Amino acid sequence: MSADSFFASGHPAHTAGKTLPEVAAVAATCDLCKLAGGRTQVVFGVGRPDADLLFVGEGPGEQEDLKGEPFVGRAGQLLTQLIEGIGLTRDDVYIANVVKCRPPGNRDPQPDEIEACAPWLDRQLELIEPRVIVTLGNFATKLLLNTKEGITTLRGREFAFSRAGIDATLLPTFHPSAVLRSGGKALAEARADFVRVKRALARFEPGTARSG
Ligand code: URA
Repeated sequence: MSADSFFASGHPAHTAGKTLPEVAAVAATCDLCKLAGGRTQVVFGVGRPDADLLFVGEGPGEQEDLKGEPFVGRAGQLLTQLIEGIGLTRDDVYIANVVKCRPPGNRDPQPDEIEACAPWLDRQLELIEPRVIVTLGNFATKLLLNTKEGITTLRGREFAFSRAGIDATLLPTFHPSAVLRSGGKALAEARADFVRVKRALARFEPGTARSG
């Protein structure tokens, strides 16, 4: 679907299907923004389709674009370590990004690209129904908290999240790439944020009904 028909008739994410693989298959052909022209493939997301914990990053980098999976490069290795540090594995969680296609040269995603891609993330939220959402860095945090405040002031805190029919607890933390660039203090703060994530998850009994 072209961008013109998207604005005329609604975003394809809304009618793409009732399961994550169905929605991912439609997203794989998306050409609603200019990122489509430079990608190797759409990097939709990976993990448990009914995960209690959802991570949202910024957008695929070179390695993610080649592999078709989010967070597989250096930042991904750190994310995996942080996840394992709270006793979970990547298979226990779901990992997605704000934009599903690689921005050229790893530049920041632009507002029109984020807007065109957001309904795919909303559909992931609706289908996964996470209890706890961790936004990694400024782009995911600003989008999901609908704020202009930066990650440095927002991290370390918990927010009530409500969007796409989902109520969850949202915890912003630094993007793993920023932690890799900044080193010691940022890493300690990211680790502390993950302990908060673990505590937030522990408030839910696994397998209990959401609305019970
Ligand atoms: N950075 C992101 O924000 N997402 C990825 O998938 C990889 C690096």
